[in-house]
Amino acid sequence: MMGPAHSLSGAAAWFAVGAVAAGLDHPMPWPTLVVGALISAGAALAPDLDHHAATISRSFGPLSRLACKVIDAIAHATYNATRGKRDPRRSGGHRTLTHTAIWAALVGAGCSAAAVYGGRWAVLAILFVHMVLAVEGLLWRQARVSSDVLVWLLGATSAWVLADVLDDPGNGKEWLFTEHGQHYMWIGLPIVLGAIVHCIGDSITVSGCPILWPIPIRRKRWYPVGPPKFMRFRAGSWVEYKVLTPAFFLVGGASALGALGVFS
Ligand SMILES: [Zn+2]
Repeated sequence: MMGPAHSLSGAAAWFAVGAVAAGLDHPMPWPTLVVGALISAGAALAPDLDHHAATISRSFGPLSRLACKVIDAIAHATYNATRGKRDPRRSGGHRTLTHTAIWAALVGAGCSAAAVYGGRWAVLAILFVHMVLAVEGLLWRQARVSSDVLVWLLGATSAWVLADVLDDPGNGKEWLFTEHGQHYMWIGLPIVLGAIVHCIGDSITVSGCPILWPIPIRRKRWYPVGPPKFMRFRAGSWVEYKVLTPAFFLVGGASALGALGVFS
């Protein structure tokens, strides 16, 4: 899928988590619901950091271009080192390491740890990166024509404001993890979720996605998981814009209302 569909599905998935959490008696305060959805929308672009033409690789200027080169090299090396007998040779790392459940879990855990031990600046940094990505993903066309600096400013100010909102008692920094010293531990969850949703989105396109690496499937360690071929579509095709995008809006909207307790 393309950026906007990835981001929308990420946000919708977090709203769905919010609805489930409300049903399980852990309702999210609205700032957790909103900020989590934005983080997940941003995180749903992150796995494509292994591709130089992807939104995320261009979003932070030379910094993300460098990160993209490094990630691509690490992914390619990991692919070669763990390749099964039937995995084909590859010339680059796109859609390998960063498109696995293990990667999603590692990045999420890393961000949770950073938020818990790194204090306010770590939270701000995580928010900034994901707000910029959320703007790039959700406001695709608008972000494309405006300058990078403008998007960074928007990301920085919204990160600052949202951190202040979350910081107020009862507003969400202590959601789910209530013990002392666990503030913002939940921040890794929308990051894991966004990455997983990205992989699922890629897996329903023609090429599939090696989510389950390194579990061997049919003698491949990088088996491209996905539904039967007739259920797959090309990234950027009409299915994405005419079917999936409206569906994400519907599911996301209904879930958000459920998460806020409108139906109960
Ligand atoms: Zn991808």
